[in-house]
Amino acid sequence: MKKLALHWKIIIGMVLGIIFGFLMNSVDGGKGFVGDWIAPFGKIFINLLKLIAVPLILASLIKGISDLKDISKIKTMGLRTIGIYIGTTVIAIIIGLSIVNIVKPGEGMPQETIDKIKTTYQGNADVMIGKAKVTQDAGPLQALVDIFPSNIFFSFSDANGKPAMLQVIFFALFVGICLLLIPVKKAKPLVDFFDSLNEVVMKMVDLIMLFAPYAVFALMANVIIAFDDTTILVKLLGYAACVVFGLFLMICFYLLLIKIFTKKSPLWFLQRFSPAQLLAFSTSSSAATLPVTMERVEEHLGVDKEVSGFVLPVGATVNMDGTSLYQGIAAVFIMQVIWPEGLTFTNQLVIVGTALLASIGSAAVPSAGMVMLVIVLEAIGFPPELLPIGLALIFAVDRPLDMCRTVVNVTGDATVSMIVAKSLGKLHDNPKPKEWDDNYEN
Ligand code: ASP
Repeated sequence: MKKLALHWKIIIGMVLGIIFGFLMNSVDGGKGFVGDWIAPFGKIFINLLKLIAVPLILASLIKGISDLKDISKIKTMGLRTIGIYIGTTVIAIIIGLSIVNIVKPGEGMPQETIDKIKTTYQGNADVMIGKAKVTQDAGPLQALVDIFPSNIFFSFSDANGKPAMLQVIFFALFVGICLLLIPVKKAKPLVDFFDSLNEVVMKMVDLIMLFAPYAVFALMANVIIAFDDTTILVKLLGYAACVVFGLFLMICFYLLLIKIFTKKSPLWFLQRFSPAQLLAFSTSSSAATLPVTMERVEEHLGVDKEVSGFVLPVGATVNMDGTSLYQGIAAVFIMQVIWPEGLTFTNQLVIVGTALLASIGSAAVPSAGMVMLVIVLEAIGFPPELLPIGLALIFAVDRPLDMCRTVVNVTGDATVSMIVAKSLGKLHDNPKPKEWDDNYEN
């Protein structure tokens, strides 16, 4: 009997988790049971993925860079990567703004609904605004300063936060470049060490993924028990549908890019990459998904380590097309509901710029995009007293949208890594994963 492919196992886990979550929602004490006895397994899984993120970035980037043999290639790769990242993000924001301006999901929402949402979610909105304040209080060049670590062990200790990931990438690049600058004989032991570390971490990803179908069951059940007020959800359906439709268009756009630039079929890509997408969906975190994204892209899509080792960790940190698309739609939706006079063309142009920066600045963790939305709104002069209501408006549907935009974020990173690899002659034609799965078609 043929073994079931991993993505099917994960999908089954997800569906069962959703059903189980709804069942538990309807029985007395069910929520508590899921929180105490089911959710921790999802947490363990996410912890394991985060555990291997730092060694994975270090090993793959240092080994990759030292394999390049030529420093000028790093510059070419860096410029192409950043250029394509910015290009796709701007396209994502334009798609988002076009949809929300055509559909106008925020027009005509009854005052009574707005008041109900306000009383229900005001507290949550205040927390988001508080988090955004921390980012805003920093000086204009603080984000740049944050890339350069003073103690690399501090950076290792918080791989989840934004600066720490960039610091690890900076350190790995620095070590990799210096390995190229010293005599080969002296560099070899360290290169071999990181090569071997890379193999070990990839094996760890394989083993952790055996647990994935059970973990997504726990993660999905936990997401479902958090929904209680479905009446508000229904009112926000138009807005949510705009975001989901925009994200869907973005996925189609990536598949088109893959077809044009790498000549690979969309189905081929989806079959091989879907486990990473499913995990992005279940965890709402590009950072937690990064090890699986890297494993899929290197071993299943054929991108050479020297490209994936750079493009993917950088992408997980700064390239968030799904998030920026969502920020564009959310900002305009909020204006449609409570500040229609702000809906000018200039303001929408400002949104393109700030959503680009905000998505670069969003951490790759759940809800980060919503925190940075505060900054987008403030940039267009949104009245501060309306801010808590604005955020409260979109809070109820934020988690499912976060799950969807994270899928787009990781798919964007994988797409760009394939395009950059192809342009540098570093995309292998017919990758055969070490753990070859019989169910793949070539
Ligand atoms: N959760 C998203 C990610 O990790 C970020 C966001 O949009 O909130 O990619």
